[in-house]
Amino acid sequence: VAGAALSRRLLSSAAAAGDSFAALWVDSSEDNKPVYNLRPTAIDELGEGDVTVDIEYSSLNYKDAMALTLRPGVVRKYPMVPGIDLAGTVRSSDSDAFQAGDRVVLTGWGVGEQHTGGYAARGRFRSEWLLPLPEGLSARDAMAIGTGGLTAAMCVNALSKALPDKVERPVAVSGASGGVGSFAVALLHAKAAQFAGGVAAVTGRASNADWLRSLGATEVLSREDVHTTAPLQKEQFCGAVDAVGGGMLASLLARTQYGGSVAACGLAESPSLATSVFPFILRGVSLLGIDSVRASRQQRLDAWSLLATSLPADMLAGPSITEVPLRDVSGHAEPLIEGRVRGRVVVATG
Ligand code: NDP
Repeated sequence: VAGAALSRRLLSSAAAAGDSFAALWVDSSEDNKPVYNLRPTAIDELGEGDVTVDIEYSSLNYKDAMALTLRPGVVRKYPMVPGIDLAGTVRSSDSDAFQAGDRVVLTGWGVGEQHTGGYAARGRFRSEWLLPLPEGLSARDAMAIGTGGLTAAMCVNALSKALPDKVERPVAVSGASGGVGSFAVALLHAKAAQFAGGVAAVTGRASNADWLRSLGATEVLSREDVHTTAPLQKEQFCGAVDAVGGGMLASLLARTQYGGSVAACGLAESPSLATSVFPFILRGVSLLGIDSVRASRQQRLDAWSLLATSLPADMLAGPSITEVPLRDVSGHAEPLIEGRVRGRVVVATG
C-alpha cells in the first residue's frame, strides 16, 4: 500500500511538474529587501479554490506596488504571488456557476494579498470571487480598467446617486493622473448630462494637463491651488472623487457646495484625515466611503456596466495604458508609488 501511495504521489508530482506554469513570487531577503522569482510553479503551490483560471492579463495597482516593494499593510505573509486583479479563461471548474471556456474577471477579495494572485499564467480562485467578463471587453481591456478603473466607476456611481440629476458646479478629481483618477475623469465626462459643470482634474503634474483635458477634464488645477487648511472655503465643487486622502480630502470637503458629496477611496497622500465637522453640519456635505475589495456583486456589476458602456474606445488602447510583461512588472512598482506613472499599467502573464 505504501508503495502504491508513493508511486501515486510521484506520478501526481510528475504531472504537476509537467503541467507547470510561470508565476512571479515575491519574497523578503534576510535584510528585508524584495526578492523576485519568476519560476515554473505547480498548481498545488497556489491558494485553493473551486475554479482554475488560465490568466491572460493582470495589472499594476497601488496595492500591487506596495506588495512588490514589501511595504506593510498589503501582504501579511511572503512568499506571495501578487496581482490583485486578473482576467482570463476558466480552465476547469468544480462550481456550477462556471465551466471550462468561460471568460472571467476577478478584482479584490484579498487576491494578491492573502491568496495567490494574478501575476501568474494560472490561478485557483473561489467561484464567488469571479464575474463573467463584461460583453464587449477583452481580457486586456478589463485589466486596463482593473481595480483602479472599477473603483473609479464605483465612486462615479455613488456620486451619481447622491447628487441631483443635473449639477452646475464642476466635480473635482484628485490624483487625476493615476489609475483611479484618470478613469474617474473619463467616466464623469461621459456623464456630462448630470455633471454639467464639467470635471476639474487636480494634479501635482502640470505636464499632464493636455492629456487630462483629452480624457475629458474641463479644467486642470494644481494640488497647491486646492490644498487649504481652512475648515470651510468658497463653494467650488458639487462634489469630488478623492484618491489621495490627507490634506487633499480635507480641502475637497471644505470646497464642496451645500448638499454635495465626496467619494473617498484612496490614500496616495496620507491615510489621515484632519478636518472639522463644519462641511457636514453647516453644508450638509456627505462623505461616501468606497471599497472595491469586498464590494457586493451588484455594485461590481453596476460598475462594470458603466465602464463597458461609457468609456471612449481610445481610453483602453491609447497612451493612458502601458503594457509590461510579467518579468518587468517589479521595475514599475517604485515609480508608481512615487506618483511618476501615468494612467494604468497592464501586465501580460503569458
Ligand atoms: P496611482 O499611483 O496610479 O495614482 C495615485 C495618484 O495620486 C498619482 O498618480 C498622483 O496623481 C497622486 N499622488 C501621488 N502621490 C501624492 C501625494 N503625495 N499627494 C497628493 N497626490 C499624490 O494609484 P491608484 O490610482 O491605483 O490608486 C489611488 C489610491 O486609491 C491609492 O491610495 C490606492 O490604494 C487607492 N485605491 C483604493 C481602492 C479602494 O477599494 N478603496 C481601490 C483602488 C485604489 P497626480 O500626479 O495627478 O497628482
